[in-house]
Amino acid sequence: MSSDAWSILDRVLDLVVSHNRWRGVESVNLIASENKMSPLATLVYITDMMHRYAEGKPYKRYYQGLVYVDEIEVLASRLMGELLDTEFVDVRPVSGTIANASVFRSYAKIGDKALVIPVQAGAHVSHTRYGTLGGLGIEQVEMPFDYEEFNVDVDKAVKMVEEVKPSIVVLGGSVYLFPHPVKELAEAAHSVGAVLMYDAAHVLGLITGRVWENPLKQGADLLTSSTHKTFPGPQGGIVAATSKQLLKPVSKTVFPVFVSNHHLHRLPALAVTAIEMKLYGHDYAEAITRNAKALAEALAEQGFKVLAEHKGYTRSHQVLVDVKELGGGGKAAVLLEKANIILNKNMLPWDRPEDIKNPSGLRIGVQEVTRIGMGPDEMKEIAAYMRRVLIDGEDPAKVASEVAEFRRQFTEIKYCIPLSEARRRLGDLAKYPPIKEILDLVH
Ligand SMILES: *Cc1c(COP(=O)(O)O)cnc(C)c1O
Repeated sequence: MSSDAWSILDRVLDLVVSHNRWRGVESVNLIASENKMSPLATLVYITDMMHRYAEGKPYKRYYQGLVYVDEIEVLASRLMGELLDTEFVDVRPVSGTIANASVFRSYAKIGDKALVIPVQAGAHVSHTRYGTLGGLGIEQVEMPFDYEEFNVDVDKAVKMVEEVKPSIVVLGGSVYLFPHPVKELAEAAHSVGAVLMYDAAHVLGLITGRVWENPLKQGADLLTSSTHKTFPGPQGGIVAATSKQLLKPVSKTVFPVFVSNHHLHRLPALAVTAIEMKLYGHDYAEAITRNAKALAEALAEQGFKVLAEHKGYTRSHQVLVDVKELGGGGKAAVLLEKANIILNKNMLPWDRPEDIKNPSGLRIGVQEVTRIGMGPDEMKEIAAYMRRVLIDGEDPAKVASEVAEFRRQFTEIKYCIPLSEARRRLGDLAKYPPIKEILDLVH
């Protein structure tokens, strides 16, 4: 038995090493929902806080031992609020889905309706009858979408709000090229007594970097988000609101309905990331959108069918490519994975539900390659690798080694406090495990 345990342990460690080498060093990550934390955020993520428990709100806990955690949580909320121009932020949801669940549960009852973006046009699974919305007994109603404009059909959607009288209108999504019309739909929502919730999971880093409209300034009542997509923080969630009154029922739902302990090691990492985004977030967001456009143009030049050319391809971190004629998104994503280019297949607006296994599209996000310092020249290289695999039909294994070599040139995370500065600032924290051991390893 015990020898078996040791050999399984070796296998587990091997798998972690292989994963780190592959996803961390040798592959180009274009998954639109991922990112990497900064060195300092990572260091404060692996502290004693990861072992501890809290329930309730700062200074009103059900557990002892949280003297320092309380202040960090207040600071993390304040910093996120400063980035979003509001004082009212709850950082306890442990994910974007939990943030959404907390708002849905607070503002709709069983049998109520929520108006959401159609799934093929980018709604997240948590906005659907198959996910959180359905789990809470709220009816999913899809709003009209204009597939020429790649956006909500405003006039028809406003009419639908007036007819359907939902409790919640949800904007924001997972596939996302252009900002949704917040102002018009917020007005319509308010006219029937509904709240407008904007799910900013994908674009939070663009909002805090001020290259994407802040929905809370345009009439949205509540903003939910993950904290780890374009915003490069720890995996987690937040809810922000325009008033204390709007946030209050949500906070009362986060705990005790959807979290008890809220994974405390996220909090200092979130605070550090928020500070880094105050310092470097605008440059970062501008570089992301510049790269997204550059990649879209480069892919089009290489012969790919890139969506929304007539609209300038994209305003976000994402690019959508139609690869139906190249065998479909399912097949293309697997081939690219073999070439060390990691992205995901995606439904395009005109796909049918039965196309889900091999939809027409590929969804590409450039936030992580931007964070490791790639620019428009590298976008051209990535587009050329993709052509070789998907259009020229080259052996992906051959391209894989070239991609790995290309990727290995980018070893540093940008738009954050450099490790040397982080070390200087860590002070006494650098004396305590596990940070001490780690710093000893990475001098
Ligand atoms: C990723 C995503 C979420 C869910 O976030 P998790 O943190 O993975 O739970 C919610 N909404 C949208 C639009 C997303 O893209």
